[in-house]
Amino acid sequence: MMDQSLSSDLLPVQEAVNPEAIDEAPPAPRSFLDRLFDRGLLIRTGVDGLYGRSGAFESVVEALDRLVSRIGAADGAEALRFPPGMARSSFERSGYLKGFPHLAGTVHSFCGNETDHARLLACLDAGEDWTAKQAATDIVLTPAACYPLYPVAAARGRLPEGGLLFDLQSYCFRHEPSLEPTRMQLFRMREYVRMGTPEQVLAFRELWLERGTTMMRDLGLPLAIDPANDPFFGRAGKMLANNQRAQALKFELNVPVNSEDKPTACLSFNYHQDHFGTTWGIEQADGTTAHTACVGFGLERITLALLRHHGLDLDAWPAEVRAQLFG
Ligand code: ATP
Ligand code: ZN
Ligand code: MG
Repeated sequence: MMDQSLSSDLLPVQEAVNPEAIDEAPPAPRSFLDRLFDRGLLIRTGVDGLYGRSGAFESVVEALDRLVSRIGAADGAEALRFPPGMARSSFERSGYLKGFPHLAGTVHSFCGNETDHARLLACLDAGEDWTAKQAATDIVLTPAACYPLYPVAAARGRLPEGGLLFDLQSYCFRHEPSLEPTRMQLFRMREYVRMGTPEQVLAFRELWLERGTTMMRDLGLPLAIDPANDPFFGRAGKMLANNQRAQALKFELNVPVNSEDKPTACLSFNYHQDHFGTTWGIEQADGTTAHTACVGFGLERITLALLRHHGLDLDAWPAEVRAQLFG
């Protein structure tokens, strides 16, 4: 089911010409982001991609989180929650900086003396750069909900025979400021992560490709499953991205939200092969390196897809959709 307003409000609005108002410029069409601000669903902070959320917006995020839990309930995943920061040492070892240095966010803190403090305040007053004495702390912002998990799983020793399954949710940071409401700098990712044999983790990914598709169809959203790649940095990154596609390691569930031409990845299904197993020394029961896969749900993105297709008034959403979420 496709909301007519999706395509129509991407086009400039044709205003009827009123001869008495001929001098006035026609009002600029409001973007989807502006309409979300107008309604108070998202709240401006002055930084693109950094927003407050209204209670109504959060009620959808929470409902989606519960819906995902219901769908996965029978699998007996172990739930773990980490804060949105992870150990810098783990982050360094994870390899994230090889692929995505441009997206990483580090936490810095003041580490000067009193003279430095006075200088900081003077710079602040003068509108100059005050960050000279800010130094990297032991904490880095979590780039994906599964990143803090791998060292924890590795520290437990070999996987049991059937492998392991985890349920995660975290705010994640990516330095990708954008005016598209679906590309935030701080957003929540719900994940399931499977560790085990290649067969076990691929079966898990297949299962969630099906479950994710059914879930999104039942929410009345038009969608397509497409092969995808991560935005690896630089020239070497092009090769990594091509390789990821050629080996069908990543799929996305795309929904048109900002435009029909460039639909938005709301869910992703990732097979890491033995990348994290090797990086962290995660071993299967027989001592061979574990393979891993994860399914990620972009909670804000799915919420925005629902708002786009069913309208900004939650009470007016189709009854079937409301029943799925709030039933
Ligand atoms: P994209 O190709 O749009 O950048 P991605 O491939 O970077 O997405 P993943 O790294 O697979 O996305 O992250 C898992 C899920 O988290 C995505 O499917 C999406 O729903 C959500 N997500 C990713 N980046 C953002 C963002 N900047 N803002 C909001 N949600 C995001
Ligand atoms: Zn993941
Ligand atoms: Mg991305």
